[in-house]
Amino acid sequence: MEVGGWRSNEMRNSCTTFPKAGSLREGPASRVPPSRKLGAFGKVRPAALVIGGGIAGIQAALDIADAGFPVYLVEREPSVGGRMAQLDKTFPTLDCSACILTPKMVDVGRHPNIELMTYSEVVAVTPPSPPLTGGGERGRFRVQVRRKPRYVDVSKCTGCGSCAAACRMKGRVLNRFDEGIAKRSAIYVPFPQAVPLKYTVDPTACLYLSRGTCGKTFLCKDACAAGAIDFEQQEEMVDLEVGAIIVATGFDLLDARLKPEFGYGVYPEVMTGMEFERLSSASGPTMGKIAVNGKEPKDVVFIKCVGSRERRREQAAPGSVPYCSRVCCMYTAKHAHLVRDKLPDARITVFYMDVRAFGKGYEEFYDRVKHERVMYRRGEPSEVYRRGERGDQGGRLVVLAEDTMLGKPVEVEADLVVLANAVVPRTDMADVAGLLGLERSPDGFFQEAHPKLRPVDTCVDGIFLAGCCQGPKDIPDTVAHAKAAAASALGVLVRHSSSTHSSSTHSSSTHSPGGRPT
Ligand SMILES: Cc1cc2nc3c(=O)[nH]c(=O)nc-3n(C[C@H](O)[C@H](O)[C@H](O)COP(=O)(O)OP(=O)(O)OC[C@H]3O[C@@H](n4cnc5c(N)ncnc54)[C@H](O)[C@@H]3O)c2cc1C
Ligand code: SF4
Ligand code: SF4
Repeated sequence: MEVGGWRSNEMRNSCTTFPKAGSLREGPASRVPPSRKLGAFGKVRPAALVIGGGIAGIQAALDIADAGFPVYLVEREPSVGGRMAQLDKTFPTLDCSACILTPKMVDVGRHPNIELMTYSEVVAVTPPSPPLTGGGERGRFRVQVRRKPRYVDVSKCTGCGSCAAACRMKGRVLNRFDEGIAKRSAIYVPFPQAVPLKYTVDPTACLYLSRGTCGKTFLCKDACAAGAIDFEQQEEMVDLEVGAIIVATGFDLLDARLKPEFGYGVYPEVMTGMEFERLSSASGPTMGKIAVNGKEPKDVVFIKCVGSRERRREQAAPGSVPYCSRVCCMYTAKHAHLVRDKLPDARITVFYMDVRAFGKGYEEFYDRVKHERVMYRRGEPSEVYRRGERGDQGGRLVVLAEDTMLGKPVEVEADLVVLANAVVPRTDMADVAGLLGLERSPDGFFQEAHPKLRPVDTCVDGIFLAGCCQGPKDIPDTVAHAKAAAASALGVLVRHSSSTHSSSTHSSSTHSPGGRPT
């Protein structure tokens, strides 16, 4: 029964059973070669699997590992860090994001109880057997992880970067970490503080891997004194047995092109909040210089709630969401502050529906920003257009909005428009849900077992949620959620640890947790 878009308590607590192992063949598990059989399913192993290496996964892995239990941390990208690694400063304290995150990234890379498996994906999970409903043991999972080939031998790579400097594709491949603002080589590290600091060949961009040839000689290989580049590398399947799983796969951002009225992708002066983070970051592509088309903007307009809080969903643009993304109010205040800090003479306007400054120190931060000559105008902009396109002179961008305080339309000229686009579920949520037998709430994020009383549990015993995969969160809430998930996972592991704590935690063909980070 639906209650205001949410299911009743009864339904929320009536968890379905884990899908039968065979049913997984329909999903991503179908990629597993049939020759790769999972190892014998022995006693419960008190190890945990954490899927996703953003701040949520990092925190959960560290808490479990610090308590003495082995952890496999599986991250899809070549480095851990997630979205937080992309941020410049963090609200409300304005700490440098990299300064507070990098030590934790280094800790997971070095922790003796953590086996870091980057550039890897979970492709099969076999449910606990026998299921808990029969009173049997809970939390035994067999997991298969696919390690994608980096085409670089991580035991030899020193992270010197000579290969990237020599690569024929140098400066021609869009750098996703920098949100496409900068370009990189086909062989790369996502960012200089990456953990592990090992290079990876991007198979879609590398001339040899995508077209079968790269000139007369491999410039990257010739440049690598360590002899680390290995185009013969194949993907590898690794079998694990774990007692608990923490899902920390994070979030995505709404494709701002789905809101064509704001001109994203059409006007270079329109960018997303995450692009602004990279632009303003001292370690970003412009070394923190805020410039558009080579010039410092004089008028900067921020538009909040782009795609969020679209109440009549059926009439909303595709991809728009009815919920509040929870972080845009505060990161927009932060962005306005950063502009004021770097461009003291800029005129700054923030268009808002309302301001939700709910966290500790948030209202005070918002107040401070308001007093930094930032004009907060209540109203939803309806369009961004270029003056010249309407026959007028000038060619500057104009934000057209209804100021709901004044009750009249206003036009604000802008050299830079920053869109706070909605936090949305990742596109592969359905695949991950199918793999693990998880349910999703009406907003598309993973469903917790109870919205108030069991915020990190799922309907599958032994599987827990951490961070933004359960719904939008700021960093403090993400970390708190991750710590709660770790505590819950530890509860499962402790119950099963007495007989097996000191024993191996994986099938004989696999590596030990705490091995070299890859
Ligand atoms: C523009 C912007 C600015 C922000 N500024 C602030 C701020 O100043 N202060 C603040 O408190 N919060 C801020 N936030 C919020 C902050 O980014 C989040 O709270 C935080 O990143 C959530 O971390 P997470 O680990 O849950 O998710 P993510 O950071 O998304 O990490 C998820 C990780 O899981 C990996 N992954 C995904 N799927 C899989 C899979 N199937 N297998 C393996 N790995 C997978 C991803 O590659 C990623 O590394 C901001 C957000 C945005 C969009
Ligand atoms: S692959 Fe070779 S050249 Fe490239 S960073 Fe590693 S050691 Fe240096
Ligand atoms: S083979 Fe060519 S394109 Fe590929 S990484 Fe090496 S130099 Fe770059």
